[in-house]
Amino acid sequence: MQVTKKDIRALTKEQLRDFFADRGDKAFRGNQVYEWLWSKGAHSFEGMTNLSKETRQMLEEHFVINHIQVDRMQRSNDGTIKNAVRLHDGLIVESVLIPTDTRTTACVSSQVGCSLDCKFCATARLKRMRNLNPDEIYDQVVAIDNESRLYYGHPLSNIVFMGMGEPLMNYNNVLKAIDKITSPEGLGMSPRRITVSTSGVPKMIKKLADDQVKFKLAVSLHSAIDEVRTSIMPFNEHFPLKDLREALEYWYQQTKSRITYEYVVWQGINDKRKDAEALARFCRFAPSKVNIIEYNPIGDDHFAQANPGALELYRDILEKNGITVTIRRSRGKDIDAACGQLANKS
Ligand code: SAH
Repeated sequence: MQVTKKDIRALTKEQLRDFFADRGDKAFRGNQVYEWLWSKGAHSFEGMTNLSKETRQMLEEHFVINHIQVDRMQRSNDGTIKNAVRLHDGLIVESVLIPTDTRTTACVSSQVGCSLDCKFCATARLKRMRNLNPDEIYDQVVAIDNESRLYYGHPLSNIVFMGMGEPLMNYNNVLKAIDKITSPEGLGMSPRRITVSTSGVPKMIKKLADDQVKFKLAVSLHSAIDEVRTSIMPFNEHFPLKDLREALEYWYQQTKSRITYEYVVWQGINDKRKDAEALARFCRFAPSKVNIIEYNPIGDDHFAQANPGALELYRDILEKNGITVTIRRSRGKDIDAACGQLANKS
């Protein structure tokens, strides 16, 4: 009888220990295998040299080790790197390495495609195919850490969940991946260097607060007026701003962690004084930072970057309300690696 082999990296350390104990072997073997899988990044059972040949064969019979493969790496003239990552079932996601002089940020995907339908985002044009597993998220980070060491001479310093997909619609796997990334057996990174970006799923934001996560939260707001937000982010109809705001207040009460808002200003959509004032009203309840990001065209004539005067108006109004503002330039545009451009084009 042909048994389907299980992905061994879907097991927790406890489950691996139990697996060995149930077979009358030492539970400690589970720790050894776990270390091979996560700390040493083993791609095969054969290389697990502190296990007997019989044990390695037995593992081979029960499990597979699924690994991602970087199918194609593109490098932008500003140093940004985009990886097209092939998953074990042949599907592709993209992740991005963004270098500065002193640090490297990895921008990773959480889903293949996306379940939301933001009108300005290229990923939204791909239907959501499936959620990524914890190890598929973790492997994207490892690949970028390796590239950072190789090309920039230092390890990865920050991670943003701003690639393809909505991380809070794949809540458990994203949290499991972050556990691995922050655990000493994984990459040992500080959770303060990790930001999860969401388009705003109120129930899940509250759950993050209840789960007392230590990473940072960013919200892709783009408008603080329901009518406008629903027209560009249709799911806002089901998760209106009132609910989002309430969830964010809860988040802040529980975590005391500053909230970052991502915001694009478009001509004729949200570039008026009333839009900026609504944003200030929305976010001044807690220490906040607004990142005004540049619009990256995705081949659509509905959306166009607002003119610099509109951005200055936003800056003015927000600063008067005590809100920190940064106006960001895009990176990696020439290789379609900038925010909202990830769409498996090649
Ligand atoms: N789904 C999550 C994670 C994606 S993050 C979220 O929405 O937060 C990607 C960021 O890029 C989001 O802030 C998104 O709103 C923004 N974005 C999408 N399309 C864009 C575009 N064409 N130009 C600039 N930013 C874009």
